[in-house]
Amino acid sequence: MNIRAQPIRTTCPYCGVGCGVLARPDGEGGLDISGDPDHPANRGRLCVKGAALAETLRPDGRLLTPRIHGRVADWDSALDMVARRFQETIAEHGPDSVGFYVSGQLLTEDYYVANKLMKGFIGSANIDTNSRLCMASSVAGHRRAFGSDTVPGLYEDFEEAELVVLVGSNLAWCHPVLYQRLAAAREKGLGPRVVVIDPRRTATCDLADLHLAIKPGGDAALFNLLLAENERRRACDGIFLPHVSGLQEALHAARATDPAMTGLEPEDLARFLEWWIDTEKVVTVYSQGINQSDSGTDKVNAILNCHLATGRIGRPGMGPFSVTGQPNAMGGREVGGLANMLACHLDIENKAHRDAVQYFWQAPAMAPGPGLKAVEMFRAVEEGRIKALWIICTNPAVTMPEADRVARAIEGCDFTVVSDMMEQTDTTRLAHVLLPATGWGEKDGTVTNSERRISRQRPSQPRRGEARDDWRILADVGRRMGWENAFGWNSAAEVYAEYAALSGVAGGLGSDFDISAHAGITSAEYDALEPFLWPQSSRKRGGRFFGDGRFHTPDGKARMVPVTARAPQPLCPAYPFRLNTGRVRDHWHTMTRTALSPRLSRHMAEPYLELHPQDAAELGLQPAELAEVDSPHGRAILRVLVTDRVARGHPFAPMHWTGETAPSGRIDALVPWLTDPLSGQPASKSAPVAIRPFAAG
Ligand code: SF4
Repeated sequence: MNIRAQPIRTTCPYCGVGCGVLARPDGEGGLDISGDPDHPANRGRLCVKGAALAETLRPDGRLLTPRIHGRVADWDSALDMVARRFQETIAEHGPDSVGFYVSGQLLTEDYYVANKLMKGFIGSANIDTNSRLCMASSVAGHRRAFGSDTVPGLYEDFEEAELVVLVGSNLAWCHPVLYQRLAAAREKGLGPRVVVIDPRRTATCDLADLHLAIKPGGDAALFNLLLAENERRRACDGIFLPHVSGLQEALHAARATDPAMTGLEPEDLARFLEWWIDTEKVVTVYSQGINQSDSGTDKVNAILNCHLATGRIGRPGMGPFSVTGQPNAMGGREVGGLANMLACHLDIENKAHRDAVQYFWQAPAMAPGPGLKAVEMFRAVEEGRIKALWIICTNPAVTMPEADRVARAIEGCDFTVVSDMMEQTDTTRLAHVLLPATGWGEKDGTVTNSERRISRQRPSQPRRGEARDDWRILADVGRRMGWENAFGWNSAAEVYAEYAALSGVAGGLGSDFDISAHAGITSAEYDALEPFLWPQSSRKRGGRFFGDGRFHTPDGKARMVPVTARAPQPLCPAYPFRLNTGRVRDHWHTMTRTALSPRLSRHMAEPYLELHPQDAAELGLQPAELAEVDSPHGRAILRVLVTDRVARGHPFAPMHWTGETAPSGRIDALVPWLTDPLSGQPASKSAPVAIRPFAAG
């Protein structure tokens, strides 16, 4: 009789939907993967990436032992060297001469330990994350409007809404299970009307009742027009408005908006305004098309303004909804994983908050204020102000804007440590010390998805080689730097219990992020933890926020922000195209895992450039020919895909590929160090480029 092993309940490591996964050992060293029918995010569904997880667990390319200057080393030698070089650098040049660059792929426990080490013990806030490239503008927008970084709604709002507006979000490819949920609701005849606002005609448009092919950068103008029209039609919510400040100032700015900035036909614009205003239950979902802009925070606030003015927030089927790109971008926010945040959503610029965290940690050297955001951090590396850098679970030599420049900066850094599960990435090749980390299937901890749901990632495989969990590596270094007690955990459960206890302190200071109900959690309870929504405290458990009109600003009111809609920076004759970048359906980031699955590579086999037919004709480019794409910062050689899914002058290229032979797609090498002034998020969707036929040789 074949008795099958019990499945292990875990969570997908890719996008921010945070689907529950059942991983059942197949008896031959592999796993059978299926969707967890009991996980509230996906109810048994998986997209193709999640379904192919078992195919990505091959040993190919894994980093199995520590390396020092390329040579195999033992853990003690490697950790001693990291601790010693960081201590020496701090002693000679001060705490701000070191930096950590981490990742939304890390588990919350990893993130917590990294933050504690840098912000409480080293005494600098120079820890930032690749989530800066993904959702920092949403964080900044939330904090401006709500006084806290709180996502108000839940996934079920997508199904309960009567109108879902997807703006700057290719949900079908980037959050596929949410798209499936929306499509299923519509198939039952219950689901909402769908509007897609995107310069490209993406796969998500298959579901759209209306596609608004907005001019790049026209989003703030569109939502300003919506706000002004709500007021003109007396459709603002007189009952909710006493909970909101700044309406008149926001309206004044909105009324000054020129509809031509949207590039939309008047009848399409009128239809959108009518649908939004005449529908009570509206959810506006936004993602990188909003966030990745040099005015991303203003775009977020233009959306939030409309929901606040009409009271469409925090009630079933209503609200603005930021969907995060990475599996634990939210968990990173919860432990203060951004250079301008403190743990548990506390404010690093608030002395009382800093003091409370310092007291809880018994920390010797609390960071006095914000540190360097991602682009600023690599500029500091380039300029020699950061002399010791630890990159954890991310590949910035490919993914940062001006990636070639970033690679040169890392190469020139006095001391670079890279923790990674893979041996050969563009970034690991630049490390002085390489530390092998566990990967999905081996790691143990928690992640938080886009709706604030915390789920466990549980190990289902033996760890490869000498790989260690990231939190443990960081704690090992912290102990070697002299902080034995503060970094003395024995398990991920103990780390979680500590940060749950800290969240209770934060809750006492008014933070929404309070999971202090778990402060005394035992290892057995942690092992058995079911997916749950935060907060979990004596004051509140799960649910939506802000429907009661209570916000976290000093006067308790939400703040509407006057937004002046701005066009993107003008192009010049030398670089006359505006390149849009983004994901494809079946690959993840720099493909270190998804490229291991042949079926995932079948969808898109190589990097490409989507080009409008008239642009292609004027450039003398035929379908499938190679094009050279240049910007002032880098170059890529891409196969041309001629399509009217993109507008004239606005080509698109996916961000995943690396490689030095044609076609080569280091797309972020083309993107400038242009960021939103508030959030520090780069403008990854509007890189000025030149395009010409590629001449080999
Ligand atoms: Fe994983 Fe996202 Fe796909 Fe769910 S939708 S299976 S979380 S990649």
